[in-house]
Amino acid sequence: MSVTRRAQVRVRVPAKVNVQLAVGAARPDGFHDLANVFLAVGLYDEVTVTDADALTITCAGRDADQVPLDRTNLAARAAELLAARHGIDPRVHIHIAKDIPVAGGMAGGSADGAGALLACDALWGLGSPRSELLDICAELGSDVPFSLVGGAALGTGRGERLTELEVGGEFHWVFAVADGGLSTPAVYREFDRLTASASGSTSAPVAEPVASPALLEALRTGDATALAATLANDLQPAALSLRPGLSATLAAGTAAGALAALVSGSGPTTAFLTKSPETAAEVAEALLASGTCRTARVAPSPAAGATVVGATAAGA
Ligand code: ATP
Repeated sequence: MSVTRRAQVRVRVPAKVNVQLAVGAARPDGFHDLANVFLAVGLYDEVTVTDADALTITCAGRDADQVPLDRTNLAARAAELLAARHGIDPRVHIHIAKDIPVAGGMAGGSADGAGALLACDALWGLGSPRSELLDICAELGSDVPFSLVGGAALGTGRGERLTELEVGGEFHWVFAVADGGLSTPAVYREFDRLTASASGSTSAPVAEPVASPALLEALRTGDATALAATLANDLQPAALSLRPGLSATLAAGTAAGALAALVSGSGPTTAFLTKSPETAAEVAEALLASGTCRTARVAPSPAAGATVVGATAAGA
């Protein structure tokens, strides 16, 4: 197979919202079994990789100061894992133009991991099969495979085993970005604490997580009202327990005409499903005026997964 190396590759990669997040009991490895229905939404980070003498990373954007610029960055780890598989040095500069809220429950770090992986694969002319890229994504983190795939998918296991889902129409969302982030592990710990105290035991049985047939049908038919009636996030009580102020944000969006409101993943971003782009703009305006969030962003869904949007040939 002929391989074409590049000097620079730019990849666009979307955020996600979990339209259903059903959380099972904690497993012996500390993870939870999930039924996780992911929907990619049109808020994007752009990851640009450029040939360099060493692995370096920079980040620009409003939340850039919260993004680690060392080897713990998921984009750097993606480059290292791919390079190690092919016995090459990850000599690359990675630049992240960050538009996805950091630690916001929208899988921004996972997006950058998937974006860097796809970009490095093209930069180094590797042409890795999709299955190999997905294996590396799963090694990077539970949400990373979905960032590569996009669209909509059901994640089982700890969320990383994906079945792609059909989506029959466009859904219009508003995302209220909170001040500060929430640590995903801290939200799971709070979930465990709340579950145990609800049953009076630390080894309480938790129902096995299953995807809602009504929700999958609403996605398949593109029916926003039906989707609104079935949105569910088992992590929401834990996120609200850690950030009680989010209740006011949820109430403000619902009062402004959203069909439904929920915490996005582990939060603290809150998500509002609306019936049209016009209603989405109105809800965003009302959320901003409510003073209950830092900013409000409108985004359609579904969105494509990680996509190469620019490349410069080596020697050009
Ligand atoms: P998820 O929805 O997958 O639980 P999240 O959207 O809540 O994740 P991220 O934005 O992915 O959270 O950031 C979580 C933490 O990951 C950050 O606080 C940061 O320390 C670390 N991190 C590592 N790489 C990145 C990256 N490229 N961008 C942002 N954060 C990163």
